[in-house]
Amino acid sequence: MNQKKLTLWLRLLAGAAGCACLLSACTGGKTVTTGALMGTASSAYRESSSHEAASDEASSAGTSSAPAPAASSKEANSRVESSAPAPSSRPAAPVPSSQEGGPQKGGSQGSKNPGYLDGLYVQPPPEDAAAEKEKVAYLTFDDGPSKQTARVLDILKEKKVTATFFVIHNGSKEAETLYKRIVEEGHQLAIHSYTHDYKKVYQSEQSFFEEYKAMQEFLQKVTGQKVSDFRFPGGSSNTVTSKERIKGIIQQFNRLGIRYYDWNVCSGDAEGKKASKQKIVDNVLKDAVKYNEPVILMHDAAPKDTTVDALPEIIDGLRKQGYTFASVNHRKEPCQHRKY
Ligand SMILES: [Zn+2]
Repeated sequence: MNQKKLTLWLRLLAGAAGCACLLSACTGGKTVTTGALMGTASSAYRESSSHEAASDEASSAGTSSAPAPAASSKEANSRVESSAPAPSSRPAAPVPSSQEGGPQKGGSQGSKNPGYLDGLYVQPPPEDAAAEKEKVAYLTFDDGPSKQTARVLDILKEKKVTATFFVIHNGSKEAETLYKRIVEEGHQLAIHSYTHDYKKVYQSEQSFFEEYKAMQEFLQKVTGQKVSDFRFPGGSSNTVTSKERIKGIIQQFNRLGIRYYDWNVCSGDAEGKKASKQKIVDNVLKDAVKYNEPVILMHDAAPKDTTVDALPEIIDGLRKQGYTFASVNHRKEPCQHRKY
């Protein structure tokens, strides 16, 4: 990456503008804490007329409205057949040479990384970020891979659509094939934690980054691809952990140059009660049209069959509205509920 691009990228990361996201879009009817979560979003940004989200992908994960760790483990069980072991404690990998002068070089504050931050890879943004005025829809699938992922990939292939998969660990052979398919078929593979167990993920900043790194290394081993783009389990505005914890993590992300993505449109496939195919289609199409660049939250965990059933109509509907499709790393601004 040349210096100019790096500078531009850093400027973008510095967050001149944010993505305003729909309040309550993904709350599943829950009461959520919105407060002043999003006080930092720029009013200049064209999407900012809408509310900010304090959505809880937790409810999302598809089980019940309980956002607590208990729900997450239940979810994990239903989502993946594997026994997702906990990441090993503190990998001690040296900083790889492949970091290509990523922004963590030299660390702007001159502070020293704690050991658990060593060696994290920073993915450069693609060369062709989406044009400002273009209508581009970003389909995103969280919590896979599962048996639904194969169906999603088949539909995307048939419709010639590129999407993004925020994945967790699944050590099964079937899952391995799916991680590879995601990459081989031109989609973006991104990290969504290793266990998706809120208790583990958010236990401490160190445990968070150990999960992150374990997943990064796992994906590299399976696919040969190094990835660093990330989505917080529950979103950056989740209420399952403290704002302080999220703030600390985001500040490290900013320092390291790691991009995280939330969403501004929810399919509603993660609420307590299973959403029907038609409801999911309607949710997406009704909200996506409010944005030139909707980032659409969906799930490809095992129980999410109605999401997959809805996908062809969602794609056709968005096309009819004039949208093209891309993976989230092509978006000029990562859509973020919370910024620091
Ligand atoms: Zn999730």
